[in-house]
Amino acid sequence: MADATAPYRIKGETGDWEVVVGLEVHAQVTSNAKLFSGAATAFGAEPNTQVSLVDAAMPGMLPVPNRECIRQAVRTGMALDAVINRWSRFDRKNYFYADLPQGYQISQLYHPLVGPGEVEILLDDKDENSVKQIGIERIHVEQDAGKLMHDQHPTMSYVDLNRSGVALMEIVSRPDMSSPAEAGAYLRKLRAILRYVGSCDGNMEEGSMRADVNVSVREVGGELGTRTETKNVNSVRFVMAVIEHEARRQVEVLEGGGQIVQETRLYDPDKNVTRTLRSKEDAHDYRYFPDPDLLPLELDEAFLDECRTSLPELPDDKRKRYEGLGISAYNASVITAEVETARWFDGLLEAGAEPKQGANWTVAELFGALNRRGEGISTTGISPGEAAELLKLVADGTISGTIAKQVFEIMLETGDAPSKIVEEKGLKQTSDTGAIDAEIDKILAANADKVAEYKAGKQALFGFFVGQTMKAMAGKANPGVVNERLRAKLDG
Ligand code: MN
Repeated sequence: MADATAPYRIKGETGDWEVVVGLEVHAQVTSNAKLFSGAATAFGAEPNTQVSLVDAAMPGMLPVPNRECIRQAVRTGMALDAVINRWSRFDRKNYFYADLPQGYQISQLYHPLVGPGEVEILLDDKDENSVKQIGIERIHVEQDAGKLMHDQHPTMSYVDLNRSGVALMEIVSRPDMSSPAEAGAYLRKLRAILRYVGSCDGNMEEGSMRADVNVSVREVGGELGTRTETKNVNSVRFVMAVIEHEARRQVEVLEGGGQIVQETRLYDPDKNVTRTLRSKEDAHDYRYFPDPDLLPLELDEAFLDECRTSLPELPDDKRKRYEGLGISAYNASVITAEVETARWFDGLLEAGAEPKQGANWTVAELFGALNRRGEGISTTGISPGEAAELLKLVADGTISGTIAKQVFEIMLETGDAPSKIVEEKGLKQTSDTGAIDAEIDKILAANADKVAEYKAGKQALFGFFVGQTMKAMAGKANPGVVNERLRAKLDG
């Protein structure tokens, strides 16, 4: 069996190569207004309907920092165990592009809002000890640019400034990842934390999260190689594909006697290749300088306290708490991977479900059904209260596990409560030994040959008799009683 924690290597002609990966993630801050203006941020609005004079860079307009955006970035930093810088400053990053009316982006280069932190990833979700810490170098806040539209007119390009000025957190990792799988685990974990915190919706399809992927290769244990940066990759799967592809390309170049040039590349998902966008020679000189329109940000204790106390229980803490309740490491990690699932499961526990049984049922039955039906936890009609009721009917012996599966299917179809279904369909489990004995006697009489084999030592046949009896009782017999009565009749 493959060892998920074994080091990832590229097999080259000349030997094995290691891969070094760092990610810069741009995450759109969840906020009703932009970073420095009051314009709305809703996704999918008609072009240029959410643009203030600040976002359009009209002369004389002054930016005013949005407290909520700063608050969300600070809370995110706290959730990543990061240093929060009580003093930070905005800089202008100057460049010309048609989607950037100001001619500069307000960002933070020299004094970011958030300093070093870390994200813990699980390399193998069945092994709680297979953890690795991925360092966070910094988080700074900055403005997003507008969007050019090249497909609206045969000879002209249009610009939509709805996104211009929207608040982004740029989350810069250290180059601590060494495989596509680690980068995937990091991105999923980071996304989960942001969604728990509520600072970013993590919706990669809508561009709320996109990653710049830094990749280099080196001979095992050798010196760090030159890296390339692949820009704006917008899914976890694509990030993993970029690393795989880019690492192999670099190994091929190096083994062919070439050199890697530091450059910016673009990923083409249709062809699954990266190609050069611009090399270091024509890199921008951004001429950063402190934005004269904005005072430095100074955070006071009361603000920081509010940020801290407003944080929810985070995925790692929740996972450990679940494990402490007797839930398996695997189930705990699956349930806590998405904030909606974790909230639903907390509801199940609050409704009185036994943790271990509840987790087994949630992962096997509920997630199985949701997958089959193409539904999500937030669109399912199964409430934690109803699920807890179903589990309680099994736990107190009212119905068997087999019948519970049937009841659950009916719940999914009709939305009815489990006790109502059990009542209406007459699905209650019976421990009536008279009825069970009568069925057993019929089965033993009809299978005299198998009874003889069993008595001659073929113990495995016991399961056959149990199965036949349960079938004859339409799954409604108490399995404990069936076992006990069969033992009495066959072995007694
Ligand atoms: Mn940036």
